[in-house]
Amino acid sequence: MKLAMIGFGQAGGKIVDKFLEYDAETGSNIVRAAVAVNSAKADLMGLEHIPEENRVLIGQSRVKGHGVGADNELGAEIAEEDIDEIQGSIDSIPVHEVDAFLVVAGLGGGTGSGGAPVIAKHLKRIYTEPVYGLGVLPGSDEGGIYTLNAARSFQTFVREVDNLLVFDNDSWRKTGESVQSGYDEINSEIVRRFGILFGAGEVREGQEVAESVVDSSEIINTLSGGGVSTVGFAEEEVEETSSGGLLSRFRGGEDEDTADTAHTTNRITSLVRKATLGRLTLPCETDGTERALLVMAGPSKYLNRKGIERGRKWLEEQTGSMEVRGGDYPTDGSGRVSSVVLLSGVTNVPRIKELQQVAIEAQENIDEIRNESEENLEGLVNEDSDELESLF
Ligand code: GDP
Repeated sequence: MKLAMIGFGQAGGKIVDKFLEYDAETGSNIVRAAVAVNSAKADLMGLEHIPEENRVLIGQSRVKGHGVGADNELGAEIAEEDIDEIQGSIDSIPVHEVDAFLVVAGLGGGTGSGGAPVIAKHLKRIYTEPVYGLGVLPGSDEGGIYTLNAARSFQTFVREVDNLLVFDNDSWRKTGESVQSGYDEINSEIVRRFGILFGAGEVREGQEVAESVVDSSEIINTLSGGGVSTVGFAEEEVEETSSGGLLSRFRGGEDEDTADTAHTTNRITSLVRKATLGRLTLPCETDGTERALLVMAGPSKYLNRKGIERGRKWLEEQTGSMEVRGGDYPTDGSGRVSSVVLLSGVTNVPRIKELQQVAIEAQENIDEIRNESEENLEGLVNEDSDELESLF
């Protein structure tokens, strides 16, 4: 599937940058165009792969290229004010060649948190292609204001996109590392999962067309209907010598061939279970999922229809959904078999409820402190006896 990606804010820009790197490394061809939007000049300059002409600095008259400092209301305002400049960059995208837009942002900050829903709304008004969001939730150790920003942005972003794919930094936090190197690793995780998912609809150069290949329309249909999505992932290394299945088939005859097939099938079903029951990009309960898509990627000889069909059936039982699609994505030469499970329209998500609760408390706290500080300042500046007069 070919995407036009718009990275909003620092996290959004860095993640889109990473998608371009992934594309170049794997030849998966998913990023048809990439744009970065930010109110902080330094963040735009730090990007490596997004072409310079596609980096848009907004809000210059308001914040002079220094960012909005985690004020997402200001982030939304300047996105609104400078929408023409953003559109100018989107105009260079050959939209007839893309299957969908993907707006990427960290929801805890200011520019991306406020701006991403604004650009999503704008794109939906102008184009007929679906507009998806990839929203990153902050870690719970980042503090109240980030949680409050994320909760407000999440609520707005979901409403404005055709589907919001969520990644929760909190469940991916790595201890004992610098924040920066931690993010680098997390960003690689994000890109690998979503790269396989979106790459599934594209045939890589030199790859054979798979038996039951996943098509872009299947990804689009799984995401249609809106709501919130999460992605699971599991993989296993496999040997990829040229003598693999084929030769052993000649030598060993039917028995070995059957054993091979059974092993391949079992590996697939076990990877589907691991992907679904392991760490999801947004942890949630899988039952009640509205739609799901299973993508099995790997060297074609390690993929078979029976395994995918069994995995798909298991996913139907696990989620209770009647709309579970599945297919393969041949990646010969990758040396591993991977399973990516997209759960779309999830509703039982304790993490979101917790985020909203903490956000409400933070909001109340902030209001309280603001009121108190007004009184305190009054008490400090004006002495009681009113003997001093202000200058004017
Ligand atoms: P903005 O530039 O004002 O939109 O704010 P940032 O993108 O810098 O930060 C917003 C939130 O995104 C932070 O609170 C973090 O939770 C998260 N974040 C920042 N940088 C990264 C990153 O490189 N990767 C990931 N996964 N999350 C990030």
